[in-house]
Amino acid sequence: FNVLLVGKGAREHALAWKLSRSPSVKHFYVVPGNGGAAALQNVSNIEHVAANDYQKLVSLSKQHEVGLVVVGPDDAIMDRIEGGVPCFAPSKEAAGIEGSKTYAKDFMRRHGIPTAEYRSFEDGDAQAYLNDESTNSRVVIKVDGLASGKGVVLPVDRAEAHQALKDMMLGGKFSSAGNSVVIEDYLDGDEISVLTLSDGRTSKSFPLGQDHKRIYYSNKGPNTGGTGVNAPVPFVSSKQMAEIERKILQPTFEGLEAEGRTFVGMLFTGIMLASSGPKVLEYNARFGDPETQTMMMLLSDDDFAAILLACAQGKLHQVELNITPGFSCNVVIEAGGYPEEYCKGDVITLSDCPPGVQDFHAGTQYEDGVLKTAGGRVFSVAARGETLEEAVATAYQGVESIQFEGMFYRKDIAAR
Ligand code: ATP
Repeated sequence: FNVLLVGKGAREHALAWKLSRSPSVKHFYVVPGNGGAAALQNVSNIEHVAANDYQKLVSLSKQHEVGLVVVGPDDAIMDRIEGGVPCFAPSKEAAGIEGSKTYAKDFMRRHGIPTAEYRSFEDGDAQAYLNDESTNSRVVIKVDGLASGKGVVLPVDRAEAHQALKDMMLGGKFSSAGNSVVIEDYLDGDEISVLTLSDGRTSKSFPLGQDHKRIYYSNKGPNTGGTGVNAPVPFVSSKQMAEIERKILQPTFEGLEAEGRTFVGMLFTGIMLASSGPKVLEYNARFGDPETQTMMMLLSDDDFAAILLACAQGKLHQVELNITPGFSCNVVIEAGGYPEEYCKGDVITLSDCPPGVQDFHAGTQYEDGVLKTAGGRVFSVAARGETLEEAVATAYQGVESIQFEGMFYRKDIAAR
């Protein structure tokens, strides 16, 4: 069958790379795709259609006899594609677990899923809450709606927290998304994430991954969309994994079903391994980026498109999610200035990638045949190895095959 994938990041390049090799895939279309996806065999970009133009996506699916639609980015997921084509994406109701942080936090409270203590606000009471002596001195402030990963502030003290709140609620920084905020206790610990396929009844998880959220070495500087992921995470025991399954994943899927929001698709769960046990930081109703790039390197050569189709059709119990032994790692290369204002349009020079390395494109674009930077996160360089050390070393060798003015990347991915 033909597959249509919606999105244009490194996550979608990695999905296109893996899915287009599935034995059951005849042809693979990406809307709008990027420079990397276009270069793959058997893959065509459809650049003139926007990722959230549902009518066009439905008519494209019919025109190209598409047998499976896979949706990458969050704004596309918030309105599931209908029209009779099997679609690997949650319904709008199920995707609410990502779309509203207030809903997600209240959901966890209702179902006893461990998460940081919090309160949600729609007005000036938030200032009073911050002033209250009994409020934790370290908090995290989150705007309620989708904000492209920019709606979370981690102030170091109360003064910074007040300023951040002012910016969010009054400064119009996040438009309507900033009208409500969640303020939660800051959690210390190791952050990990898990991608779980669900068809509404059966779920299957990928190995745990560890992203590196801050821009600078040793977890310093502002938060980003993610700067690199290694997996599996060696310091998480099978006992901890079982606890995550029992206390977090199982009640999450059961809770969503009980609330009439049965989840079909990929659930991303961000978890802090706090001293008091694992606690949910966030849910995303989609493949994580950059987690997906690492996970695609760990998947066996099975028919991944058939697995996603089975999932969309409620038959996940009929297929296996086979993971190859070993480790994988991806290093994100950013444009200078990211995550603040960054440069675009710089010429990229690519030399041959070492064997075993995949350089997944994110913010790249061809202009008159010349590859140039076009986004904050420009590449994700991924590799697999028998050991974690080998995977990391190979990925960093791959980084050396890419060059552009002002390029930046963390040199300590997987150091922990
Ligand atoms: P994303 O871009 O990952 O979707 P988001 O905008 O949905 O981000 P969160 O995932 O809730 O926001 O938070 C972003 C990051 O902020 C987390 O990955 C984590 O590093 C940090 N963070 C969030 N909540 C807390 C907390 N309670 N304690 C400590 N750190 C936190």
